[in-house]
Amino acid sequence: MKLIRFSHTGVVKPGVILENGRMINCEAFGQDYNEVFFAGDGLSRLREWLSENKDLCPVIDEDVVLAAPVARPSKLICIGLNYAGHAAESGAAPPAEPVVFMKATSAIAGPNEELIIPRDSEKTDWEVELAVVIGRTASYVETSQAMDYVAGYLLHNDYSERAFQLERGGQWVKGKSADTFAPLGPLLATRDEIEDPHDLRLWLSLNGEIVQDSRTSDMIFKIPELVSYLSCFMTLLPGDIISTGTPEGVGLGFDPPRYLRPGDVVELGIDGLGTSRQKVKAWSR
Ligand code: ZN
Repeated sequence: MKLIRFSHTGVVKPGVILENGRMINCEAFGQDYNEVFFAGDGLSRLREWLSENKDLCPVIDEDVVLAAPVARPSKLICIGLNYAGHAAESGAAPPAEPVVFMKATSAIAGPNEELIIPRDSEKTDWEVELAVVIGRTASYVETSQAMDYVAGYLLHNDYSERAFQLERGGQWVKGKSADTFAPLGPLLATRDEIEDPHDLRLWLSLNGEIVQDSRTSDMIFKIPELVSYLSCFMTLLPGDIISTGTPEGVGLGFDPPRYLRPGDVVELGIDGLGTSRQKVKAWSR
């Protein structure tokens, strides 16, 4: 299944993209795609409900405003330097263990919302990433079992303010957490939709010019290792998101570095997970 959420008269509602590409409103299912939904085997219940009810669901307009495909999770965890090329362009050695950091969940935005450059920012940068959504409570999970805990996948742009992240001391979280810094979606593809999550093209363009273009096969630590690893430091709750890192081609890696300015347009995509587009705007009160 391909799950979406959309804004309708100021309220976010759940929906689904059918195999024919049509988007339908699943408000009548009665549940948002949140922790309770995933914990209660919501994906199976939704699949069953759709088999009876999909023809009764209203069709959604093509020009609908999409929201993040999952409701705000308990955690948005990111993996740093998980592609060798990106580690090199960042001036870092490939890590011996996964580099883990948090991103504030208030940074989550719809896939095509404007990216707001934070106040006093000069180094706002982009990072296309494959993100994993957790489907079941995961604590001390073995690598061999880890995929059973994955509900599905989505596209994420891990926007990063490099001065806040790297020049202001302390943890990376300061450079990762501004409002709109985590556009998610357009869709959540359930695990069965993606044959091999480690063999997907991921790309990002700036004003039409491709700047990132790699494959998830280049990840240093793969999804089962990441889920298992993280579950040994914290309990992963249903609906939690793990973003698996970005390949080379971020603005920081250019010589001289290239950062976002108001009016820029960022587009990105991953095989099977759709595309998103953020127009860049300056912060204002
Ligand atoms: Zn990242």
